Amino acid sequence: MLLQLLRVGAAASVACFLTACGNSGSGGTSSTAPSPTTAPLISVAPGSRAVAVGATVSFSVAATASPTRYQWRRNGLDIVGATSATYSKVVDQVDDGARFSVVVGNGIGDTVSADALLTVYPVPALETPCAAAGTRMFKVTSASVEAGGVVGAVVGGCAGPLRTIQWTQTAGTAVSVLSDKTGAISFVAPSAGTYSFQVDAVDANGAAATASVDISAVPATSTTQIAVRVDQAVRQGGSTSLRTWPTLESGDAVQSVTWRQTSGPAVVVDTSDPSRALFTAPTVSPDTILRFQATLVTAQGKTATDEAIVLVESEVQAPNQPQYVFQGDQVSRTYPYKASGQYASVLQRCVYAPQLQWEDAGKNTCTLATLPFLAQDTGGNEPTVAQIMDRVVVSHDWMGAVFEQFIGRSDMVDVRRLLNGVTAVVIGAHVRPSFYFSLTGAIYLDADNFWLTPDQRDVIDETPDFRTDFDRDLQYSGVWRYELNSNNIFLFFPPDSRATTRTFDDLVLQTAWLLYHELGHAGDFLPPAVRGSLNSGATAWDNISARFNAAQLPSDVLAQQLPLTSTILRGLAQVKFLGATADATQRSYTPQQIGAFFSADRASDEYSYTTIREDIAMLFEEFMMYRNHGIRRDIAITDKITPTATSNTLIVRWGERGRDGAPAVDPRVKLAVQNIAPWIDASQVDALPPPIDMRAGDTWTNNLNLPAPPPGTRVQSITTPAARAADAWLLDRASHWPPAHRAPGSQGAAGGRR
Ligand SMILES: [Zn+2]
Repeated sequence: MLLQLLRVGAAASVACFLTACGNSGSGGTSSTAPSPTTAPLISVAPGSRAVAVGATVSFSVAATASPTRYQWRRNGLDIVGATSATYSKVVDQVDDGARFSVVVGNGIGDTVSADALLTVYPVPALETPCAAAGTRMFKVTSASVEAGGVVGAVVGGCAGPLRTIQWTQTAGTAVSVLSDKTGAISFVAPSAGTYSFQVDAVDANGAAATASVDISAVPATSTTQIAVRVDQAVRQGGSTSLRTWPTLESGDAVQSVTWRQTSGPAVVVDTSDPSRALFTAPTVSPDTILRFQATLVTAQGKTATDEAIVLVESEVQAPNQPQYVFQGDQVSRTYPYKASGQYASVLQRCVYAPQLQWEDAGKNTCTLATLPFLAQDTGGNEPTVAQIMDRVVVSHDWMGAVFEQFIGRSDMVDVRRLLNGVTAVVIGAHVRPSFYFSLTGAIYLDADNFWLTPDQRDVIDETPDFRTDFDRDLQYSGVWRYELNSNNIFLFFPPDSRATTRTFDDLVLQTAWLLYHELGHAGDFLPPAVRGSLNSGATAWDNISARFNAAQLPSDVLAQQLPLTSTILRGLAQVKFLGATADATQRSYTPQQIGAFFSADRASDEYSYTTIREDIAMLFEEFMMYRNHGIRRDIAITDKITPTATSNTLIVRWGERGRDGAPAVDPRVKLAVQNIAPWIDASQVDALPPPIDMRAGDTWTNNLNLPAPPPGTRVQSITTPAARAADAWLLDRASHWPPAHRAPGSQGAAGGRR
């Protein structure tokens, strides 16, 4: 919540000093909303929860079409007095297994939500591994598992979180450990036996600490198993996810998976998807162990359980004060990928530390003498991969290895040049959404963009982007995708499949646009034209702030010379992407109206209206995808996406392919490219193909084929569960992820200041 407030506040003031100051967001249109004509559509249904006795649990619902009545139900019976959009209760053991739903009405009709299941268990026990006097570092291992199962072990600090950690296997069949510089390891035990590790750490007092850890596995006997992945370390306040992986006898099926917390301070577990547990790590001192157990029951009555250990590190996060770079944000554990790289000793404290302050007496952000922009090392020429990698910070080694290979590709030459505009690249399992931050000059990338194997994906937090539901009250949706030869370039990789792998070519499709976007921000805040006159005695932000405050950034020039004009869309962007509450007028807009507003203006995306910084980054991103990869962007305004919508039922009311090529948008693209990537001949912008209109009234799926295909060649229908899952994921990505992965840091705390 703090995170949202910070970012909302910061971004709102950026938008404000530009054009729309004093306008509360509805764009000056009538405040009288029309009466609804349909029963409410539930846009966010209540989700299942698992909690300990005595905890308070809340269920909430969101619906469009002006709901005026809510009635919550327990096992189908009305709950007296439970008549608002949120229902909270203190749970008792008798609530275990209860199902909660809500009726939403608006005078036209009633809509009933799906059931949310409440699972209740006894209060978990507390473990106190630091209780023994003199303990500086403790170790905990998972209970013995059968060969083929997932085992884990954690180490924690008793005087504060451990500063550095290195696990080294010393005995047993060699296993692959992907988190060997974190407080927790997890791996599949390939055979029965003992696996031994040495842990070398530096504790909070700077003293070396060493431990040996033995983990054992017994011979496999069961044919029905469940594994919980992964044992992990997370900092207090951090979002955390665990996922179950059942192994079934042939012909059997999963009947249920039930979650239970068995130790540690009690947390509320989101089990909306029963195969996945989501929770927020509690505030702790010292480092604290949480354990979670998942129990599988199969259709044939077989059962199995597994446990995961979560170490919560008592790392102090940034105070809620504006001089802190990461105020309201969560800084997770990372380290320099190249331990002996040129900047290894300063990277962490310069770009990703909760203590970082960018102004006032405690100011401790680094000067460029300590951590220069990459352009200062390269003279503005194309950096070598080694120069780039010396500035990479990761939460797991594989992220650095993948990034290194990725940016070395021949089709990433522009990405390498664009990286001149940053001080560092942070890739983390808990970075979500990705962002550029002008206070540090670094980009921060969600590791979900870089995994190649299921084991790599296991360590990445699955918690959805915090902005996922911001459009809940609006009656339309906006969707987007990139396409190549009328194929959606985004692919679905089933989250529950261990056969899933990605290739580097997949990464180009999944991730290149994100890099162009974030590096577009970097090139806006510090354009190549000014990199020859940097003051090494000043910080990254202090080298940016004068031109920022004077409104001299390329995005400022764009807004002055070729501004967006729709105050309505600007107001709606505050709702959709920044979390403002929609007013009655905003709730009443139809997709047709929004399509008309959008097509009459000259943005490349709805997200362009959040801030002028996003406007220029969106123009740039779309151009670079076409220039380097021949990939074009689709954007559409559609009917509202409900929980039952599919791409085959979702109707496009207005849409366009390749909007960057529209005559009204073209000069704006040119301004972006000339400033951010001046080595590109701007005449290439004029050569962009003209946009192709989508067919209003046809589906999002059918509109992938543009222009319309001959009769009889229309697209597949969604018939199998696998196709349905893929479509649901792609539709979620099309409507939510996009902004999800661009965003806030593009202005951050400093953006709101002048
Ligand atoms: Zn952005």
